Amino acid sequence: MPLTPTEPKKRFSVVVIGGGIGGLAAAIGLRLSGQTVTVIELREKYLGQTGGARQGLNQTANSYTCLYALGLEEPFHKFADNGDHIKMRRYSDGTVIKAIHKKKRYSKLHREDLLRILYERAVEVGVEIITNETFESIEDTQQHVRVQLQSGRTLQPDLVVGADGVHSKVRKSIPSTKDITASPTGDCVFLVNVPKSVMAKQPSTAALYKSGEDPFHFTVGPGRCIVSWTITIRELYHLQICDFQYGDGKAYGLAEKDDSPLVSTFTDMPALRKRWGDFDEAIRTLLDETDVCTKWRIAETPLDMPWCSPTSRIVLIGDAAHTFEPFAGQGASMAIEDATVLSCLIARASQDPSLTLADVATAYESLRRPRVDAIRAMVKANAAIFGLADGEKQAERDRNIGGEGFSVGGEGREEKGAYQGTAKWSTEEAYEFTEGYDAVKEADGYVFGREG
Ligand SMILES: Cc1cc2nc3c(=O)[nH]c(=O)nc-3n(C[C@H](O)[C@H](O)[C@H](O)COP(=O)(O)OP(=O)(O)OC[C@H]3O[C@@H](n4cnc5c(N)ncnc54)[C@H](O)[C@@H]3O)c2cc1C
Repeated sequence: MPLTPTEPKKRFSVVVIGGGIGGLAAAIGLRLSGQTVTVIELREKYLGQTGGARQGLNQTANSYTCLYALGLEEPFHKFADNGDHIKMRRYSDGTVIKAIHKKKRYSKLHREDLLRILYERAVEVGVEIITNETFESIEDTQQHVRVQLQSGRTLQPDLVVGADGVHSKVRKSIPSTKDITASPTGDCVFLVNVPKSVMAKQPSTAALYKSGEDPFHFTVGPGRCIVSWTITIRELYHLQICDFQYGDGKAYGLAEKDDSPLVSTFTDMPALRKRWGDFDEAIRTLLDETDVCTKWRIAETPLDMPWCSPTSRIVLIGDAAHTFEPFAGQGASMAIEDATVLSCLIARASQDPSLTLADVATAYESLRRPRVDAIRAMVKANAAIFGLADGEKQAERDRNIGGEGFSVGGEGREEKGAYQGTAKWSTEEAYEFTEGYDAVKEADGYVFGREG
């Protein structure tokens, strides 16, 4: 069922809790297929919001194919930089180990810009969005699902979509997932934004700022890596400084266990500069120029938790269902894929009244679970590949990456659902597996009544 405005035979009313990337994408898809959609969102506003996480997002073809299906091709490219190769740099001197060419282009933009275009499209297609709002409770029975909002209003939709992120309160409203919380993995990412004017000051940093041209750099080093790119429309250079050995933060001078919120403002720049002092001159210069950044401790939910309530009236998507370490730029992409698959399945149920929400829930879990499992295994392998200590394995990686690819296995990294048993990075086959996925086609091709 294509995501084009459709008159349904049966119209579902849907409440989406959480108007982030996944929630807004789902709201647009559901509305396009003729459903009545209300989004409940904690943030006060979408446009002109300041502060918040200073985050850039990498979006690959599997994600932007969904965004195009939602009618976002033009606005997306207004805000995104595109590229077709990745430059892998050595940490100690910044030399380019390899330029890896990709068949499918990738796009990079700022999170707030993606939210902005999703919000504007949702309003355009007729989604009701209630900001500065949350819910007190959800009552989920065989007869109905009832959402009691904090403001006192009660909603009684056919379906609730829980898209309220890693700390999901909707998840806690489902008996079988009520005790599940996301646990820190010990990885941490520091997000740094450097203005174009600062980048221009030194030749080593000016060389990194390439508007509209190969803007994607991977600087790999022992136990750490930096992923960085230009966001032209914001005149920024964005760095995601990933420490796979953060643990309790001892390398940053923390004496006690780190119990800070997962996302916080970080100002101890001397500690950051010390920890990253073995990286090349351009990186050291950028850290010298930075006074404040966002610290993001990574947390994960278990993969085997259910994503739908027993009544099938509550469905979890995005980080509420499954979180990812951000080492392949796939978390938001998975939220967008979830949203698209769910929208297409609901579209089919709204055209075929013999299909129930239970059929949709079964189809959703059957389609999404193997995919999410495999992508998570791949992400974990990436961390192992990027963070190799100098030595034989690292030299092998540097020789083979971008050609035959490079596999890691053992040491707990060959996980359930891993990409073809081993996890590879930078092969055409691996890219095709991740980026060649077409969520609309998968959902439209699903045969109801058959185990997925
Ligand atoms: C450092 C870092 C870098 C990343 N880089 C990338 C990348 O390059 N590419 C990529 O694809 N992914 C990336 N990700 C992953 C991506 O950020 C997440 O997977 C994505 O944001 C999940 O989207 P979501 O809509 O499920 O949740 P969120 O984006 O967390 O949205 C949840 C929304 O729900 C709202 N909300 C929460 N609680 C309530 C409530 N009780 N009531 C009402 N509203 C509520 C929140 O305000 C928010 O708007 C990265 C993650 C990290 C940590």
